[in-house]
Amino acid sequence: MDVIHLLPDTVANQIAAGEVIQRPASCLKELVENSLDAGATHIRVIVKDAGRTLLQVVDNGSGMSETDVRMAFERHATSKIRSAQDLFSLHTMGFRGEALPSISAVAHVEVQTRRPEDEVGTLLEIAGGEVLGQSLCQCPVGTNIKVKDLFYNVPVRRKFLKTDQTELRNLLTAFYHIVLVYPKVQFTFVSNDEILMDLPAATEKQRIESVFGKTGGKPFTSQLVEIAADTELVSIRGFVGKPEAAGKNAQQYFFVNGRYMRHPYFHKAVMNAYSGMLPGELMPSYFIYFDILPEAIDVNIHPTKTEIKFQDEQAVFQILLAAVREALGKFNIAPAIDFNRDGELEMPVKHTITNELPKVTVDPNYNPFHQHNDAIKQQRVPATWNKLYDEQPDFEPQENELFPLGVDELPMNQYAEKYIVVNTQRGLLFVNQHRAHICVLYNQLLDQINESHGISQQLLFQDVWELSADDMVLMNTLSDDLRAVGFDLVQFGQNSYSIAGVPAIMKSADAIAVLKDIVDDVRLSGSTAREQWRKRIALVLASKAAIPYGQRLLEDEMRSLIRELTALTTYRLTPDGKTVAWLLTDDELQKHF
Ligand code: ADP
Ligand code: MG
Repeated sequence: MDVIHLLPDTVANQIAAGEVIQRPASCLKELVENSLDAGATHIRVIVKDAGRTLLQVVDNGSGMSETDVRMAFERHATSKIRSAQDLFSLHTMGFRGEALPSISAVAHVEVQTRRPEDEVGTLLEIAGGEVLGQSLCQCPVGTNIKVKDLFYNVPVRRKFLKTDQTELRNLLTAFYHIVLVYPKVQFTFVSNDEILMDLPAATEKQRIESVFGKTGGKPFTSQLVEIAADTELVSIRGFVGKPEAAGKNAQQYFFVNGRYMRHPYFHKAVMNAYSGMLPGELMPSYFIYFDILPEAIDVNIHPTKTEIKFQDEQAVFQILLAAVREALGKFNIAPAIDFNRDGELEMPVKHTITNELPKVTVDPNYNPFHQHNDAIKQQRVPATWNKLYDEQPDFEPQENELFPLGVDELPMNQYAEKYIVVNTQRGLLFVNQHRAHICVLYNQLLDQINESHGISQQLLFQDVWELSADDMVLMNTLSDDLRAVGFDLVQFGQNSYSIAGVPAIMKSADAIAVLKDIVDDVRLSGSTAREQWRKRIALVLASKAAIPYGQRLLEDEMRSLIRELTALTTYRLTPDGKTVAWLLTDDELQKHF
């Protein structure tokens, strides 16, 4: 008996759907790309429950005829290419004819569509790949497609979806990838009946501004400089962030021929251009648009893959590197920076600026950490301590053991405006003043968040913080806990918060900058449970408010800090695992004499 048979289309489509439509965000991408291919100038995206219940895309594009709309849901049905040859002169986002059949295989789909030349439109309903009905309808020119109950018949996929908050962020990311490269098209994004973004037709720069809004009161784009390079091989334009605006949560985008791409190798080129200008963990933002002959890149791109292969990658790398360097040099950015962060690191940037072609040269062998450590050793630390100084502590201080009589009578001193040296029964205890204070504040703040009794200090002038849509989503999640710890904030319009008060311990800190750091930190740490993000909030605030290095302490101040520290259940490490206290034991000391 023969055993091979063809799979029914419905099954084949479901399998294909697994590749093309992995989550609501991939569905959004496909639908919006179709609207762009149809020449729409206004595209509205409407989602409910992060696309789980509803994902709707409404456009004013060319619409489809009665027969075409039916055809559109057949596999490999496309109006965009006719032969393999066409693949080399592609001017549309789609061409595989897979998206609509895949989507309709795993959801309830309802389309209304009308061409400008038709009096009436068509309404088509499909679910699980089966046509449920088709009729004439009154509707505006363009296409309105509703995808309901995504993955209703694929429970595994449904289960794989993350929380609504995460899926909404995925939707917005997919949305950004498109809106940033089609500034001339007007876009609207509505989530659960709330307009998250309304982006008018604009220039690229204005579009970046309306997507990312203001950071710290400054327009986002004022932190960017323009880059441009026109060569025979490729034309590159766009914007790169000024080094001083680098942050933990940078916006980094490459686009090629109107399409978002990931390109780790080109990313390296950009980072090379910044080398020596950024402290370790901070990243610059960039928005870089490549234009290149379609023949010079691989067009046969998998629908969900965003990596794109260039034929001449090394040459493009060099052109990109030079373009970014020139932009950074031209604006005379390098010399102005001084990263004196946490009092621990100073990074001199060697630079030469010639009159004509500005150039930034950075010493690649310069390692700020090494040099600084050496300096500490030479100037401040007695020679015999060098080795000990770097060793990990291996004791867990027990209050009663170290301080059987409490801390009130113990002699203590400050060393290097950084350590409190306590003369204990078992040896010399070195306590890092900044980190010790972090531990103390962290525990207080965490209590305040949990019990909702943070102490607020009113600001003289209210601050208004304009947020990007995905920061807004996160802020809405965090706002209750931020209020609990003493921020006085109210949502203000669709994408702003007004801030009237800050936790009293923050004193004069820039409220917006602090909130931005919290939001970035929560995102970066991937904290999705309330308990987790409460800890992150407490840690960010504690780190900002803690006694800095370089601050001279009075004996009373040292004593009360040590008293508070040793009252904690554990204090050897900060909440993020850095050493707070280290004991130079008597035994250890004896070995050296
Ligand atoms: P592809 O985009 O690769 O051609 P799709 O399955 O996404 O494949 O769409 C199939 C066809 O349906 C498209 O080629 C296009 O002719 C038509 N189509 C889909 N969406 C729209 C739309 N919003 N407006 C007009 N036509 C559309
Ligand atoms: Mg398509």
